[in-house]
Amino acid sequence: LLRAEDLWKSFGERDVLRGVSVDLAAHEVVAVIGASGSGKSTLLRCLSLLEPIDDGRITLGDEDISDPRVDANRVRARFGVVFQSYNLFPHMSVLDNVTLASRVVHREARKDAETRALALLERVGLGEKARDHPDRLSGGQQQRAAIVRAIATDPEILLLDEITSALDPELVGEVLELVRELAQDGTTILMATHEMAFARDVAHRVVFLDEGRILEQGPPAEVFGNPREARTQEFLTRFR
Ligand code: ATP
Ligand code: MG
Repeated sequence: LLRAEDLWKSFGERDVLRGVSVDLAAHEVVAVIGASGSGKSTLLRCLSLLEPIDDGRITLGDEDISDPRVDANRVRARFGVVFQSYNLFPHMSVLDNVTLASRVVHREARKDAETRALALLERVGLGEKARDHPDRLSGGQQQRAAIVRAIATDPEILLLDEITSALDPELVGEVLELVRELAQDGTTILMATHEMAFARDVAHRVVFLDEGRILEQGPPAEVFGNPREARTQEFLTRFR
């Protein structure tokens, strides 16, 4: 579904992505792991055209989305993206947050967008909070609402960038549980995460990014249980 070939990206003098090639099949769940600064967020941002690449090629379905002539806004709307924090607009209700893209980008009627949004919010246990502003929600509820917002437009791919790392430990579980459900439903997910136990459990494939390169990748049992590269082993021992 998504294919990146030989992506290069630098910020100033610093090469952040150094020839990354990665695939994501429909319904696949892939976890990107790696040390802080290894380029995980940059990779996710480049794939979803939130950041321009310097070189390489990205195809989504059968469209070359790295072609400079593509309408980046139209392509971005094919991804649902959730970041570590500050996902929701503070001055809007949860419901308005969730329906914004449907109404503005996809020009759906407010009533239809709200009916679908309310059903999704109910499903994740946030029906009661729909009319509240985000600051009335716990961090875990806010991230669940952010996920609902990201999936409300039915994107082809969900990109999750360390969505639990700003949360208090007791709130992490409820957010991961929602991701697990989406994965079970067949949502195509690419996530950067430090939650190794979760990646091991839910991801079909784990990609280890090291200084802007994919050093190794494979099924979680292999990468976690029997890493081939010394640097992967070294990285993983920090999580034991
Ligand atoms: P973390 O685990 O801390 O989130 P990461 O793997 O997501 O790290 P990135 O955020 O992709 O890492 O950053 C990779 C490198 O690129 C870092 O050295 C970072 O300082 C640099 N970088 C990222 N975004 C920018 C930017 N907009 N301008 C300049 N440098 C940047
Ligand atoms: Mg990051």
